[in-house]
Amino acid sequence: MDELLRRSEKLKTVGQLAAGVAHEIRNPLTTLRGFLQLQQETSKLNKRHVDLMLSELDRINLIVSEFLILAKPQATRFEVKDVRFILGDVISLLDSQAHLCNIVLETYFDQADCRISCEENQLKQVFINILKNAIEAMPNGGRIAIAAKRNDSHHIRVSITDEGIGIPEERIAMLGDPFYTEKDTGTGLGIMVSQRIIQTHQGTLEIKSKVNVGTTVIIALPLLKEQALEA
Ligand code: ADP
Ligand code: MG
Repeated sequence: MDELLRRSEKLKTVGQLAAGVAHEIRNPLTTLRGFLQLQQETSKLNKRHVDLMLSELDRINLIVSEFLILAKPQATRFEVKDVRFILGDVISLLDSQAHLCNIVLETYFDQADCRISCEENQLKQVFINILKNAIEAMPNGGRIAIAAKRNDSHHIRVSITDEGIGIPEERIAMLGDPFYTEKDTGTGLGIMVSQRIIQTHQGTLEIKSKVNVGTTVIIALPLLKEQALEA
Protein backbone atom coordinates (compact mmCIF):
# COMPACT_ATOMS: atom_id res chain seq x y z
CA MET A 1 0.00 0.00 0.00
CA ASP A 2 2.84 2.37 0.90
CA GLU A 3 4.33 1.60 -2.45
CA LEU A 4 1.05 2.42 -4.21
CA LEU A 5 0.82 5.73 -2.39
CA ARG A 6 4.36 6.54 -3.29
CA ARG A 7 3.68 5.68 -6.93
CA SER A 8 0.72 8.01 -7.11
CA GLU A 9 2.79 10.73 -5.47
CA LYS A 10 5.39 10.17 -8.12
CA LEU A 11 2.81 10.41 -10.87
CA LYS A 12 1.75 13.73 -9.44
CA THR A 13 5.35 14.82 -9.60
CA VAL A 14 5.51 13.78 -13.20
CA GLY A 15 2.50 16.00 -13.78
CA GLN A 16 4.60 18.89 -12.52
CA LEU A 17 7.45 17.99 -14.83
CA ALA A 18 6.55 20.48 -17.52
CA ALA A 19 6.85 23.34 -15.05
CA GLY A 20 10.15 21.91 -13.84
CA VAL A 21 11.58 21.68 -17.32
CA ALA A 22 10.52 25.22 -18.14
CA HIS A 23 12.24 26.41 -14.99
CA GLU A 24 15.42 24.45 -15.57
CA ILE A 25 15.70 25.78 -19.09
CA ARG A 26 14.84 29.36 -18.24
CA ASN A 27 17.91 29.81 -16.03
CA PRO A 28 20.50 29.14 -18.72
CA LEU A 29 18.37 31.08 -21.22
CA THR A 30 18.44 34.11 -18.94
CA THR A 31 22.23 33.87 -18.73
CA LEU A 32 22.50 33.59 -22.50
CA ARG A 33 20.26 36.58 -23.01
CA GLY A 34 22.31 38.62 -20.55
CA PHE A 35 25.53 37.97 -22.41
CA LEU A 36 24.01 38.72 -25.80
CA GLN A 37 22.66 41.97 -24.46
CA LEU A 38 26.12 42.81 -23.11
CA GLN A 39 27.53 42.16 -26.54
CA GLN A 40 24.95 44.37 -28.23
CA GLU A 41 25.53 47.25 -25.87
CA THR A 42 29.29 47.13 -25.42
CA SER A 43 30.70 44.57 -27.87
CA LYS A 44 32.77 43.34 -24.93
CA LEU A 45 32.11 39.64 -24.94
CA ASN A 46 35.33 37.79 -24.08
CA LYS A 47 36.38 34.17 -24.30
CA ARG A 48 35.21 33.42 -20.77
CA HIS A 49 31.74 34.75 -21.62
CA VAL A 50 31.59 32.67 -24.75
CA ASP A 51 32.72 29.55 -22.85
CA LEU A 52 29.96 30.13 -20.33
CA MET A 53 27.42 30.60 -23.10
CA LEU A 54 28.49 27.35 -24.68
CA SER A 55 28.18 25.42 -21.43
CA GLU A 56 24.73 26.92 -20.81
CA LEU A 57 23.69 25.83 -24.30
CA ASP A 58 25.06 22.34 -23.62
CA ARG A 59 23.01 22.22 -20.46
CA ILE A 60 19.80 23.10 -22.28
CA ASN A 61 20.63 20.51 -24.88
CA LEU A 62 21.20 17.83 -22.23
CA ILE A 63 17.92 18.53 -20.45
CA VAL A 64 15.97 18.55 -23.69
CA SER A 65 17.53 15.35 -24.97
CA GLU A 66 16.86 13.49 -21.71
CA PHE A 67 13.26 14.59 -21.98
CA LEU A 68 12.92 13.56 -25.57
CA ILE A 69 13.47 9.99 -24.46
CA LEU A 70 10.49 10.26 -22.13
CA ALA A 71 8.33 12.10 -24.62
CA LYS A 72 8.86 9.58 -27.39
CA PRO A 73 5.60 7.96 -28.36
CA GLN A 74 5.15 4.56 -26.74
CA ALA A 75 4.99 2.87 -30.14
CA THR A 76 8.57 1.78 -29.67
CA ARG A 77 9.83 -1.23 -31.56
CA PHE A 78 10.69 -4.17 -29.39
CA GLU A 79 13.16 -6.65 -30.81
CA VAL A 80 14.85 -9.77 -29.52
CA LYS A 81 18.38 -8.87 -28.38
CA ASP A 82 20.98 -10.37 -26.10
CA VAL A 83 21.58 -8.17 -23.05
CA ARG A 84 25.25 -9.17 -23.03
CA PHE A 85 25.77 -7.55 -26.44
CA ILE A 86 23.91 -4.38 -25.47
CA LEU A 87 26.06 -4.12 -22.34
CA GLY A 88 29.17 -4.79 -24.43
CA ASP A 89 28.35 -1.87 -26.73
CA VAL A 90 27.77 0.46 -23.80
CA ILE A 91 31.00 -0.64 -22.15
CA SER A 92 33.06 0.07 -25.24
CA LEU A 93 31.38 3.46 -25.45
CA LEU A 94 32.36 4.40 -21.88
CA ASP A 95 35.59 2.46 -21.50
CA SER A 96 37.91 5.33 -22.43
CA GLN A 97 36.11 7.71 -20.09
CA ALA A 98 36.42 5.15 -17.29
CA HIS A 99 40.09 4.64 -18.11
CA LEU A 100 40.73 8.38 -17.83
CA CYS A 101 39.25 8.24 -14.31
CA ASN A 102 41.41 5.24 -13.31
CA ILE A 103 38.38 3.01 -13.34
CA VAL A 104 38.38 -0.57 -14.58
CA LEU A 105 35.15 -2.00 -15.97
CA GLU A 106 34.86 -5.72 -15.18
CA THR A 107 32.27 -7.96 -16.77
CA TYR A 108 30.68 -11.13 -15.38
CA PHE A 109 28.39 -12.50 -18.05
CA ASP A 110 26.35 -15.69 -17.98
CA GLN A 111 27.37 -18.37 -20.49
CA ALA A 112 23.74 -19.02 -21.27
CA ASP A 113 22.10 -16.71 -23.76
CA CYS A 114 20.51 -13.62 -22.28
CA ARG A 115 17.99 -12.72 -24.97
CA ILE A 116 15.11 -10.49 -24.10
CA SER A 117 12.53 -8.48 -25.98
CA CYS A 118 13.60 -4.83 -25.82
CA GLU A 119 14.01 -1.48 -27.43
CA GLU A 120 17.76 -1.56 -27.83
CA ASN A 121 18.46 2.18 -27.81
CA GLN A 122 16.34 2.78 -24.76
CA LEU A 123 18.05 -0.01 -22.88
CA LYS A 124 21.43 1.36 -23.92
CA GLN A 125 20.34 4.69 -22.51
CA VAL A 126 19.56 3.04 -19.17
CA PHE A 127 22.94 1.31 -18.96
CA ILE A 128 24.74 4.51 -20.00
CA ASN A 129 22.92 6.53 -17.31
CA ILE A 130 23.76 4.02 -14.60
CA LEU A 131 27.37 3.47 -15.64
CA LYS A 132 27.93 7.20 -15.85
CA ASN A 133 26.59 7.62 -12.33
CA ALA A 134 28.93 4.87 -11.18
CA ILE A 135 31.92 6.55 -12.85
CA GLU A 136 30.95 9.94 -11.43
CA ALA A 137 30.73 8.42 -7.95
CA MET A 138 34.36 7.26 -8.07
CA PRO A 139 36.60 10.33 -8.20
CA ASN A 140 39.55 8.27 -6.98
CA GLY A 141 39.10 5.42 -9.42
CA GLY A 142 38.49 1.76 -8.65
CA ARG A 143 36.44 -1.06 -10.13
CA ILE A 144 32.96 -1.29 -11.54
CA ALA A 145 31.51 -4.79 -11.86
CA ILE A 146 28.93 -5.33 -14.57
CA ALA A 147 27.12 -8.65 -14.37
CA ALA A 148 24.39 -10.25 -16.45
CA LYS A 149 22.92 -13.54 -15.22
CA ARG A 150 19.79 -15.59 -15.71
CA ASN A 151 18.82 -15.57 -12.08
CA ASP A 152 15.73 -17.77 -12.33
CA SER A 153 13.68 -19.22 -15.13
CA HIS A 154 11.93 -15.92 -15.77
CA HIS A 155 14.44 -13.10 -15.52
CA ILE A 156 17.78 -11.76 -16.54
CA ARG A 157 19.45 -9.90 -13.73
CA VAL A 158 21.82 -7.12 -14.66
CA SER A 159 23.79 -5.55 -11.84
CA ILE A 160 26.21 -2.66 -11.89
CA THR A 161 28.29 -2.33 -8.74
CA ASP A 162 30.65 0.55 -8.04
CA GLU A 163 33.11 1.32 -5.26
CA GLY A 164 32.04 4.94 -5.09
CA ILE A 165 30.90 7.43 -2.48
CA GLY A 166 27.58 5.68 -1.95
CA ILE A 167 24.18 7.19 -1.13
CA PRO A 168 22.92 7.86 2.41
CA GLU A 169 19.90 5.73 3.26
CA GLU A 170 17.54 8.67 3.66
CA ARG A 171 18.30 9.84 0.11
CA ILE A 172 17.65 6.54 -1.60
CA ALA A 173 13.89 7.19 -1.69
CA MET A 174 14.55 10.46 -3.54
CA LEU A 175 16.33 8.74 -6.40
CA GLY A 176 14.11 8.88 -9.43
CA ASP A 177 12.46 12.12 -8.40
CA PRO A 178 12.85 14.53 -11.30
CA PHE A 179 15.68 17.04 -10.92
CA TYR A 180 17.01 15.43 -7.75
CA THR A 181 20.75 15.81 -8.14
CA GLU A 182 23.75 16.21 -5.87
CA LYS A 183 25.99 17.28 -8.74
CA ASP A 184 26.88 20.79 -9.88
CA THR A 185 26.32 19.90 -13.50
CA GLY A 186 23.76 17.13 -13.01
CA THR A 187 20.25 17.14 -14.44
CA GLY A 188 18.71 14.78 -11.91
CA LEU A 189 16.91 13.00 -14.74
CA GLY A 190 19.06 9.93 -15.36
CA ILE A 191 17.49 7.62 -12.82
CA MET A 192 13.94 8.77 -13.49
CA VAL A 193 14.35 8.18 -17.22
CA SER A 194 15.93 4.78 -16.54
CA GLN A 195 13.10 3.70 -14.21
CA ARG A 196 10.56 4.68 -16.85
CA ILE A 197 12.30 2.71 -19.57
CA ILE A 198 12.63 -0.38 -17.36
CA GLN A 199 8.92 -0.12 -16.51
CA THR A 200 8.01 -0.16 -20.20
CA HIS A 201 10.08 -3.34 -20.42
CA GLN A 202 8.08 -4.93 -17.59
CA GLY A 203 11.21 -5.00 -15.50
CA THR A 204 12.32 -3.71 -12.12
CA LEU A 205 15.11 -1.41 -11.04
CA GLU A 206 16.45 -1.48 -7.52
CA ILE A 207 19.24 0.56 -5.90
CA LYS A 208 21.27 -0.58 -2.91
CA SER A 209 23.96 1.57 -1.44
CA LYS A 210 26.29 2.08 1.48
CA VAL A 211 28.09 5.34 2.11
CA ASN A 212 31.81 5.08 1.34
CA VAL A 213 31.41 1.47 0.24
CA GLY A 214 29.52 1.75 -3.01
CA THR A 215 26.30 1.36 -4.90
CA THR A 216 24.66 -1.49 -6.77
CA VAL A 217 21.91 -0.98 -9.29
CA ILE A 218 19.99 -4.17 -10.04
CA ILE A 219 17.78 -4.47 -13.07
CA ALA A 220 15.61 -7.52 -13.70
CA LEU A 221 14.19 -8.02 -17.16
CA PRO A 222 11.79 -10.75 -18.28
CA LEU A 223 13.27 -13.56 -20.34
CA LEU A 224 11.63 -14.63 -23.56
CA LYS A 225 8.81 -17.12 -22.98
CA GLU A 226 10.53 -19.96 -24.80
CA GLN A 227 13.63 -19.57 -22.58
CA ALA A 228 11.46 -19.75 -19.49
CA LEU A 229 10.07 -23.04 -20.80
CA GLU A 230 13.46 -24.50 -21.63
CA ALA A 231 14.90 -23.72 -18.16
P1 ADP B 1 22.45 13.22 -12.12
O1 ADP B 1 23.46 12.16 -12.42
O2 ADP B 1 22.26 14.17 -13.26
O3 ADP B 1 22.68 13.91 -10.81
P2 ADP B 1 20.69 10.95 -11.74
O4 ADP B 1 19.20 10.83 -11.78
O5 ADP B 1 21.46 10.11 -12.67
O6 ADP B 1 21.00 12.49 -11.97
O7 ADP B 1 21.18 10.69 -10.25
C1 ADP B 1 20.61 11.43 -9.19
C2 ADP B 1 21.52 11.46 -7.97
O8 ADP B 1 21.61 10.16 -7.41
C3 ADP B 1 22.97 11.86 -8.26
O9 ADP B 1 23.14 13.26 -8.27
C4 ADP B 1 23.72 11.21 -7.11
O10 ADP B 1 23.68 12.02 -5.97
C5 ADP B 1 22.90 9.96 -6.83
N1 ADP B 1 23.51 8.76 -7.43
C6 ADP B 1 23.07 8.09 -8.52
N2 ADP B 1 23.85 7.03 -8.79
C7 ADP B 1 24.82 7.03 -7.86
C8 ADP B 1 25.96 6.17 -7.59
N3 ADP B 1 26.25 5.11 -8.36
N4 ADP B 1 26.72 6.48 -6.51
C9 ADP B 1 26.45 7.54 -5.73
N5 ADP B 1 25.40 8.37 -5.93
C10 ADP B 1 24.60 8.12 -6.98
MG1 MG C 1 23.24 10.64 -13.80
